[in-house]
Amino acid sequence: MYVIQHALHEYKSKLFDLIYEEMSVGADHSVQLQKWLTVVKDCLEIDQAFLYFYTDSAYFLYQPHHNGGVPLTLAEATEEYILRPILIEKEDLSSIKFHFTKSDGSPLAILQVKKEDSKRWADESWLHSFWKASNQFLQHTGGIQTVLEDERRYRELFKVTEIFHSTRDVHTLLVQVIETLKQVFPIDEFRLLLSNDRHDFGELPIKSFDFERANESAMQAFVNGTIESGEEDILYAPLKGKQGIYGVLEVESASLDFTDQKIEFIRLLAYTAGSALENAKLYEQSKRLITDLQLINETSHQLNLNLRLSETVQFLKKQIKRSFQASAIGFVLLQKGEYTILDESSPVFFEEIGRSFISYVKKRIEEERDSIFLGDVGDRFEGAGAFPSIMAAPMVQNEALIGFCVVLHKEPYMFSFDMYKLLQSFIHHSTLAITNATLREKLEHMVITDHMTKLFARNYLDDEMESSMNKDELGTLLLIDIDDFKSINDNYGHQIGDEVIIEVSNLIKGIVSHHGFVARWGGEELAVYLPSLGRKEGMEIAERIIKDIPLKTDPSVTLSCGLSIWKADDDHCPKSVKELVKKADEALYLAKNNGKNQVVKDCQ
Ligand code: GH3
Ligand code: MG
Ligand code: MG
Repeated sequence: MYVIQHALHEYKSKLFDLIYEEMSVGADHSVQLQKWLTVVKDCLEIDQAFLYFYTDSAYFLYQPHHNGGVPLTLAEATEEYILRPILIEKEDLSSIKFHFTKSDGSPLAILQVKKEDSKRWADESWLHSFWKASNQFLQHTGGIQTVLEDERRYRELFKVTEIFHSTRDVHTLLVQVIETLKQVFPIDEFRLLLSNDRHDFGELPIKSFDFERANESAMQAFVNGTIESGEEDILYAPLKGKQGIYGVLEVESASLDFTDQKIEFIRLLAYTAGSALENAKLYEQSKRLITDLQLINETSHQLNLNLRLSETVQFLKKQIKRSFQASAIGFVLLQKGEYTILDESSPVFFEEIGRSFISYVKKRIEEERDSIFLGDVGDRFEGAGAFPSIMAAPMVQNEALIGFCVVLHKEPYMFSFDMYKLLQSFIHHSTLAITNATLREKLEHMVITDHMTKLFARNYLDDEMESSMNKDELGTLLLIDIDDFKSINDNYGHQIGDEVIIEVSNLIKGIVSHHGFVARWGGEELAVYLPSLGRKEGMEIAERIIKDIPLKTDPSVTLSCGLSIWKADDDHCPKSVKELVKKADEALYLAKNNGKNQVVKDCQ
C-alpha cells in the first residue's frame, strides 16, 4: 500500500516538475506530452500508452513523431462518450482507458494503457487518483488544446462566411448556420428564433420569434442587439445586420458554462449569420420588387386597353389571386349611394359570411378612407374567424370613394406587408380604368335608350333590324305617329305633351311585350320591330295598338301606323333596312291621308 501511495506522490511531483518547467522555460507542447507519457509509463509500469485527443467530433491518436500519416481514430469515439463521459474504462484485463475532460466537462482526451501482466493493475481508488492528477495536468497543458480548438472553430466560421456570402437563398443560409453550430458545439442545443419570416423550415431548429411569449433575455437581445444570458446556461445572441436585427440565436449549453471564447465565437457567428441573412433578404426583397413592378406594369398595360368593366375586374382578380394566393377576392362598387357586389367576386361574397366581411370593410373604409391590413381579424364580427387574414383597399377617384376591393385568406397572417403595398398599388392603378369602364357602359346605355321614354333609341332599332335581316326568315316593322299632336301641345302645354308621349310609349311596350323592340323614332313618332313575325301577327299587334291607345290615354290621342314586312324567300320584299323603313313610311303617309287613326300595310 505504501509503495503504491508513494508511486502516486512521485507521479504528482513529476507532473509538477513538468508544469514548472513549462512555466519557467516555456516548453514545447508536444515535448511536454511526450515527457508526460514517459512518466505515465514508469508510474503505471505499463508496456504501451496511446493518447487520443478530441477534435472535430472524434478522437484522434496523438502521434507527434508520426509524419503525415492518417491519424488513427478510436472506434469507441461515439456520441455516448461525449454525452456521458466515463472516467476509467477497463476494456479487458490488459487494457484501461482513461477519459479526460475539459473544465466544462466536454471531452478532451483518452489515454489507453496496456500491459501484458494483467494481475498487476492498481485498485480502483488509486486509478481514480491517477486519473484526477492526470486530468488536472492535461487541463493545464491542454490550454494549448483550447487554442487549437478555437482555431478549428474559426476555420469553420471562415468556411461558413464564404458560403454565406455566396448564397442568396435564405433557406440554404439558415441550414448552413445550423450545420456550423452542430459542428462546432456538438453537445449543445440551439435554436434560431427568426422575426418576420414565413418560411417553412420543417425539421430544422428554427422557430419564429414570438414577441408575446419570448422571455426577457431573448427580448433584450433582440431589441438591444446585445448578447444576453438567460436562465440555466442559455445564451441569446442577436442575428444582427447593418439595417436591423433579424432574430435571435438561442444556445443551450449542455456543459457547465459559457467560456469567454465560446461567447465571443457565438457572437461572431450570430453577427455573420445576421449580415448574411440581411443580404439574402435584401436580395429577395429586390427580386420581389422587380416582380411586383412587372406585375404593375403588365396590369397598367392591360387596363389601358379600355376593357369592359367585367373584363377589367376579371383581370384584376386574376392578378390578385396570382400574387397573393388569396382564398377569396371581392369587388364592391358604390353607385348612386348604393353598394353593388360585382358578379366577378368570389362566390363567398354572395353568402352571409362574405357579406359580413363586406359590411365590416365598408364601415371602416367609409370612416377612415384608408386601406385595411389585418393578420388576424379575430372575433371582431360574426363569422370573422373563417378568413382571419384580410386586406382591403378603397378605390378613390377625384377624392370620391367609388368602391373597394377585399382580399381574404383562410389562414391567419398569410399576407405580408409587401403584399399589402402591392394590393394598394393594384387598386390605385386600376381605379381609373374601372371608373372609365363604368362611365363608358353608362354612356352606351344612354346611347341605346331614349332618355324621356326609356324606349330604345332609333340607331339601336336599326342595328336590331340589320341583324334580324341577316339571321331571321322574316320580320315586321310598324311606324307609328301620334295624330294631331301639335294640338295636344297647344291645348295642354308641352309638359302634358311629354307625359302623353311617355304614356303612349309604355302602353305600346306593354302590347308588344317580348314579341319585339319598341323605339322612339323621333318626336312623337315611334317604331316597333317584330323579328320573325309576319303580316298577320304584325297586323294584329298594330290593330291592338290603334284600338287600345285612345281608350287608355288622357288626354286621349289616336295613332296612325304604317306597316311593312320583309321575307327572306320573297323577291318582292324589301332587301334592306332602308327599304323596309321607306315602305313603312309610305304606308304611314297613306294612313294619315286616309283620315288617321288606322293601320296601313305596305302594298305587297
Ligand atoms: P299629324 O297628325 O299630321 O301627325 O299632326 P301632328 O300635329 O302630330 O304633326 P306635326 O309633325 O305637325 O307636329 C308634331 C308636333 O309634335 C310638333 C312638335 O312640337 C311636337 N313634338 C315633337 N316632339 C315632342 C316632344 O318630345 N314633346 C312634346 N311635348 N312635343 C313634341
Ligand atoms: Mg309627326
Ligand atoms: Mg303627328
